[in-house]
Amino acid sequence: MARLKTTLLMLALAGLTAAASGRVALAQKATIGIAMPTKSSARWIDDGNNMAKVLRERGYGTDLQYAEDDIPNQLAQVENMVTKGAKVLVIAAIDGTTLSDVLKQAKAKGITVIAYDRLIRDTPNVDYYATFDNFQVGVQQAQSIEQGLGLKEGKGPFNIELFGGSPDDNNAYFFYNGAMSVLQPYIDSGKLVVGSKQTGMDKVSILRWDGATAQARMDNLLSAFYGKKRVDAVLSPYDGLSIGIISSLKSVGYGTPDQPMPIISGQDAEVPSIKAILRGDQYSTIFKDTRDLARVTADMVDAVLNGKEVPVNDAKTYNNGVKTVPSYLLKPVVVYKSNWDKVLVDSGYYKRSQFE
Ligand code: BGC
Repeated sequence: MARLKTTLLMLALAGLTAAASGRVALAQKATIGIAMPTKSSARWIDDGNNMAKVLRERGYGTDLQYAEDDIPNQLAQVENMVTKGAKVLVIAAIDGTTLSDVLKQAKAKGITVIAYDRLIRDTPNVDYYATFDNFQVGVQQAQSIEQGLGLKEGKGPFNIELFGGSPDDNNAYFFYNGAMSVLQPYIDSGKLVVGSKQTGMDKVSILRWDGATAQARMDNLLSAFYGKKRVDAVLSPYDGLSIGIISSLKSVGYGTPDQPMPIISGQDAEVPSIKAILRGDQYSTIFKDTRDLARVTADMVDAVLNGKEVPVNDAKTYNNGVKTVPSYLLKPVVVYKSNWDKVLVDSGYYKRSQFE
């Protein structure tokens, strides 16, 4: 009996090794191009590292490039990947509308294109999309404001200002629309008042998600509309913008017992912003586990290169102007002072020592 078990175990192990080396042998030939937007934000550094790590573990070669938010730079990087013979491109676009020509070349060479986190627009040559539920991100940001202000309990009226993400990033509209699906009824009922009256992405967006631009806009809003009144909440779609907004508020005296910080949202659970939450400067952020996004994207790559069915869980939401791109949507998680360690430390994403 024991011998039978051992033999079976050995057979099983031999099978596994053969399968694994078979996959490596198959995959080793394939290089995957990974185009990331910028290293100026920790989330994209994590995305790039996780993506390259998972793909290498699965036996692929990787070509990871960052474009420092420069559109021609990203275009040149992707062109280079195509020329060098990448089999799959994983692209987090800076401007989702500028890649049409290079993706045409990619398609002509039979390269599969996966839009990573941000949808690539206005081209038929994007095959799959791996991302988080971006509308839900906006809903969660607004729900955190709803909670922080006590709107559900009927408190108010409160003054709020709204910020949107980069107008060339498809996600920014999903975040904004998701947030407004929660906030608009309070604005309509007068429980929330946008002091500046500036609403709509055409008025509140911040090009390239730039924190300094957000800070300058907040400076202007405070001096033009909040001479005598207080701003009680700020919808911010990204931690990097929240940092600029917080600096602006501090410069006019917010953040003291007499003049506490407004309720401010964010996104990406970046370390400086978790520290801001712990200090009470920021109220919430949204955690999007880049390890999961890397895994889902690598599963797509595996499936494509092995002729298997590509895992998707949404076939209707993301129309890029030319086609609806089959997508895999992951779930975002809201982070507050009350759950940050459970969500971010217990999951192994960060070490507690990073916050001491
Ligand atoms: C991403 C966000 C990020 C923002 C700025 C968006 O496309 O989905 O997670 O905060 O870009 O980098």
